[in-house]
Amino acid sequence: MPDAEPTNILVVDDLPEKLLAYRTVLEELGENVVTARSGEEALGLVLRHEFAVILLDVTMPGMDGFETAALIRRRRRSAHTPIIFLTAFADEVRAAEGYAHGAVDFILTPVVPEILRAKVRVFVDLYRMTQQVRRQAEERIALAEERTKRAAAEDATRRSNFLADVSRALADSLDPGTTARTLARQAVPFLADLAGVTLAGEPGQPWRTELAWAGPPGREPGGVRLTGPDGPHDELRDAVERALGRGQPERLDGLDLPYPAPADGRVRSAAVFPLRARGRTLGVLTLALGPSGRRHEPADLALAEDLASRAGIALDNARLYKDVERADRQKNEFLSMLAHELRNPLAPIRNAAEVLRMSGPDQPQVRWAREVIDRQLSHLVRLVDDLLDVSRITRGKIQLKPEPVDLAAVVGHAVEASRPAIEQAKHRLEVALPPEPVWVTGDAARLTQVLTNLLNNAAKYTDPGGRVALALAREGGEAVVRVWDTGVGIPADMLTAVFDLFTQVDRSLDRSQGGLGVGLTLVKRLVEMHGGSVAAHSDGPGKGSEFVIRLPALAAAEAPAAGANGRPPAAAGRLRVLLVDDNVDGAESLAALLRLAGHEVWLAHDGPGALEAAAGFRPDAAVLDIGLPGMDGYEVARRLRADPAAAPAVLVAVTGYGRDRDRERSREAGFDYHLVKPVDLAELHRALAAARPAVPAR
Ligand code: ADP
Repeated sequence: MPDAEPTNILVVDDLPEKLLAYRTVLEELGENVVTARSGEEALGLVLRHEFAVILLDVTMPGMDGFETAALIRRRRRSAHTPIIFLTAFADEVRAAEGYAHGAVDFILTPVVPEILRAKVRVFVDLYRMTQQVRRQAEERIALAEERTKRAAAEDATRRSNFLADVSRALADSLDPGTTARTLARQAVPFLADLAGVTLAGEPGQPWRTELAWAGPPGREPGGVRLTGPDGPHDELRDAVERALGRGQPERLDGLDLPYPAPADGRVRSAAVFPLRARGRTLGVLTLALGPSGRRHEPADLALAEDLASRAGIALDNARLYKDVERADRQKNEFLSMLAHELRNPLAPIRNAAEVLRMSGPDQPQVRWAREVIDRQLSHLVRLVDDLLDVSRITRGKIQLKPEPVDLAAVVGHAVEASRPAIEQAKHRLEVALPPEPVWVTGDAARLTQVLTNLLNNAAKYTDPGGRVALALAREGGEAVVRVWDTGVGIPADMLTAVFDLFTQVDRSLDRSQGGLGVGLTLVKRLVEMHGGSVAAHSDGPGKGSEFVIRLPALAAAEAPAAGANGRPPAAAGRLRVLLVDDNVDGAESLAALLRLAGHEVWLAHDGPGALEAAAGFRPDAAVLDIGLPGMDGYEVARRLRADPAAAPAVLVAVTGYGRDRDRERSREAGFDYHLVKPVDLAELHRALAAARPAVPAR
């Protein structure tokens, strides 16, 4: 063995000159020669080192060679180390004694160097070979150990992966039945050949068991739901019943039961684990083995126990979720009923108020009372309508009536609907509309509701005298409406939450117009039903708020054929009328009459307001008071006429003066009709009729 490490050779003799001689002879072997001068010293060395061979002088003072050999043999480490005695006597009796003490050979002294070397070399080689065999055996053992460890680690990983997978699957389901099925199906084949999850029914209700089995070779895995205790065999059923009752695991060995139909095979053993949470047993997990020939290993049982406790929690969660869902459904049903019930008395009250308005004496107190009733009624109607809508939306009962809609018209209606709130708070309203119509496919009434909600909120959440603005624009393929204000703003952490049902930033906020926290929920749901989105922005409290609505816009080619002035033709008989009068009450009452006649009416109270409204609302007809502050009616008419594409088809002047001169002035300014106050309604209707597309204008 060329590059092997030197081995140790021990030589024991009491005479130093002899030791020197042996060393000289043996050193040629290239091994490590260690010497000792007494049996005691030799024993000490043997304790500390391992020797390939020991050469022992028989005659030594004190402990002689034989005694030393006997003690060496007793040491575990040196029990088998070859011992060669060195002796001057070739005496048979002594030799026999030597062998009895564990000698393997004798060498007569004085030694012949070659013989000594040859014999020692034999033992050194033998030692080396033994060492090598031992080393290889150790390596094999180490390898086997490592393999076992790796397998154990892989097993542990497989188990924890399994647990993680099942936990994930369990967390996905929020229904007890699905949770049970998931658990049963995940348990095979990893933990069982046949797995059952039995859910304890409510008292008096039968159990439900979800069964799953691993496919025997050549067969598909399968599963089935059993109702009642019929499925499993008696012994299993009793164990399940016990586990359900006591909440303790059960073991069944030495079974020979058929699988429940439609699977086949024999069940040989089963383990039943209760599924528990918060002190209650909600069901049991049964793991049965049979066709695979496997047995329930302790590690598998521990894993199953862990799994059962997780499944118990998942089942509990699913049950709690069901309870919450039920409560939510009941709440929604209650809301919808409440809203219906509240709405019923509102219509007659509204009618009665209307009768009061038409017939009551116009004393200031009566008028005030009427206005209060009117305002509060509108508020109540709005709240109740919002409630109704929300309950309809949460139950998926709102249906849109989509048609091509010009958003400018929607903006017009929304501005008109929210004008009372804006004016009451003395806000300045700015509306910016693009020169071209922006078409979308939508439900005009619902889109109007969306913008009205945003404008009303802007008015409500802005201190009196603030600014409320709305801008409509087309951005690429989208119609974008921005509504912003200079109001109280919204904290960053509420920008998303404000769209949640019943969410209000500050419920204690003492605003003149309260709310229920449903308006923005409606806005969001309705916009989303239109395929759009809404987002809130605010730089924080006191910094105002902005709401941005994006809807898919119709391409110009998809827009309906426009009338001469870019508007769609008005529905037969129904006109869009702009009414301009600085006498608010007069304007309101005339507007009410025109609305009764089926027209859509937009009000403005001064010249600039009229021009702005005309740009947004694009009326078919405009009825202008001449004596307006700042810019008079003539000027408004001239400006309206200046843009033939946008001008209403019919312009009607309303004035206190009916002289020829006045009529002439009206004509010059571009009016088609000149009516003298108090206006004769029939005359007004005739004038407006000229704007109907069926009748040639003017
Ligand atoms: P409501 O106005 O009835 O409370 P909404 O759903 O319309 O319910 O609005 C939810 C909440 O969002 C409001 O209570 C308010 O706190 C906040 N909010 C809505 N619009 C604005 C706005 N323009 N400025 C500031 N806060 C607003």
